[in-house]
Amino acid sequence: MFNEYNLEEIRDRARAAFIGMAIGDALGATVEFMTKTEIAGKYGTFREIIGGGWLRLKAGQVTDDTEMALCIARAIIRNQAWSRDAIAENFAVWLKGRPVDCGDTCRKGIRRYMLHGTLESPPNEWDAGNGAVMRLLPAAIYSLPDRHLLEKYLLEQAHITHNNPVSDAACLCLGTMIHLAISGASKNLLRREADGLAARFPTFRFEPYRGLATGYVVDTLQTVFHCVFKGKNFEECLVGTVNQGGDADTTGAICGMLAGAYYGMEGIPRRWIKRMDKGVIAEIEAVTDKLVAASPLGASDG
Ligand code: MN
Ligand code: MN
Repeated sequence: MFNEYNLEEIRDRARAAFIGMAIGDALGATVEFMTKTEIAGKYGTFREIIGGGWLRLKAGQVTDDTEMALCIARAIIRNQAWSRDAIAENFAVWLKGRPVDCGDTCRKGIRRYMLHGTLESPPNEWDAGNGAVMRLLPAAIYSLPDRHLLEKYLLEQAHITHNNPVSDAACLCLGTMIHLAISGASKNLLRREADGLAARFPTFRFEPYRGLATGYVVDTLQTVFHCVFKGKNFEECLVGTVNQGGDADTTGAICGMLAGAYYGMEGIPRRWIKRMDKGVIAEIEAVTDKLVAASPLGASDG
């Protein structure tokens, strides 16, 4: 499926996915934990990167979603290999650096690693938050185009903090959709993956949309899928998603990676890129190119 697409296009879509994720994080963080009604009352339609929110962010500042993804990306690049130890170590260094935010399940898993060296959290029926899904992008890019590697990397990075069948199913579905979107797949094909997840796990059914956008991974993916399949461009998908409120930085980050991969760099509004933290965008561009180059797809080039 990848042979028909050149590496230049793959690199563009991978970059758009990573930058789109950071934009969704920075945009959504302003309205995180607000309800849809509160957002409408305060902003009408919320659509600009202005910072603030409960974390009192600077405009263009990202949160744990982007930071944890960067932890994974740096671990891969530094080792030139997949290493759960290196990823967990980067999570630990990050947590010790007092990040602006960290979810409870992520914190618990990282602490467990710091105390006991545990690379796989014990199975837990309550660990079905969206923390493993929000950071999976580097694992998806680095495994291109190998579906078996994708599955291994997705679950290994997830289980450091989240070991739960619903979280796993969400990771596998979103990771597969990212592979497809980066390869230039149609929205119909992406839709088939999302519908497949809903067929295997009916709890993920997203039409009719229930209007819940919490940090429970089921609510999170329902919101992202509803808005991505309704939106006609990157901006519509992302604005639709974050205006649902709730865990808006994380629904935004996940929507941004998927819509970014699908629409590519030219689909991302310039005004949003300009508002982003310049250091974060520069690092994302550099690590994304390196992840693509180090992936089986990049290695097969020339
Ligand atoms: Mn966050
Ligand atoms: Mn969040």
